[in-house]
Amino acid sequence: MPDNTNTCQVGGLPVTPFKSMTEAVKTIGSKPGFAVAINAEKALMTIDNDEFHNILRSATILYADGIAIVKTLKKKGVNSARIPGCDLWVELMHDAARTDKHVYLLGAKEEVNRKAAEKLRGEFNLKKLNRKNGYFKEESEIARDLQNLRPDIVTVAMGSPQQEKLIARLREVYPEAFYMGVGGSYDVFVGEAKRAPEVFQRLNLEWLYRLLSEPKRIFRQFILVKYAYMHLTNRL
Ligand code: UDP
Repeated sequence: MPDNTNTCQVGGLPVTPFKSMTEAVKTIGSKPGFAVAINAEKALMTIDNDEFHNILRSATILYADGIAIVKTLKKKGVNSARIPGCDLWVELMHDAARTDKHVYLLGAKEEVNRKAAEKLRGEFNLKKLNRKNGYFKEESEIARDLQNLRPDIVTVAMGSPQQEKLIARLREVYPEAFYMGVGGSYDVFVGEAKRAPEVFQRLNLEWLYRLLSEPKRIFRQFILVKYAYMHLTNRL
């Protein structure tokens, strides 16, 4: 459960509002726990899925990653900045380098994972870093790595809900780290996937850009219509 009482329920999930990215970085990742980026898709996924709902409720911080969540919070009288998970991850990596934290970079394809690690070592000057791609055979390899290497921060780029389910299991064997699921963030970081152009970001239309560039996501995006209906009829 979130360790701070300043939360607001969205679809049964206690979301912590943040005034700015700076405030979010100060609060998130400073101690062991589990942060989850909440967007419309995840909020709805949890409504019919008790297992996933319980996993997200076991997180220590849920933050508003999607504009839909920011709007629902606002409707409930709570102001929050939008905290895009991929930007938060970059900020946390800068902070980890500054404070000499040990990071375990898990997930994405081998080449992406390796390039992300190289960039963090080279450009961010992150000294304590271990890594593993997201296509491993045995989960026990990861658990063993964590217990042996004892990182402070574990970021997992394997897409939802797999990454959150994996984190919940890893926390049982190694609770001492701060964990965060980061989806396609490493791909964006190394230039393998493109982030929406500035104008889409400014207009809060990153979801639309993603839909246009990956039309096969249309079925995932239908959920936005359901979310909009629930938002407008105060069902969230
Ligand atoms: N991925 C992985 N292992 C898997 C499946 C996916 O490491 O078994 C990685 C994939 O290479 C990509 C990320 O997970 O880097 C998925 O990103 P996506 O943008 O689909 O995540 P979302 O945030 O949309 O759930």
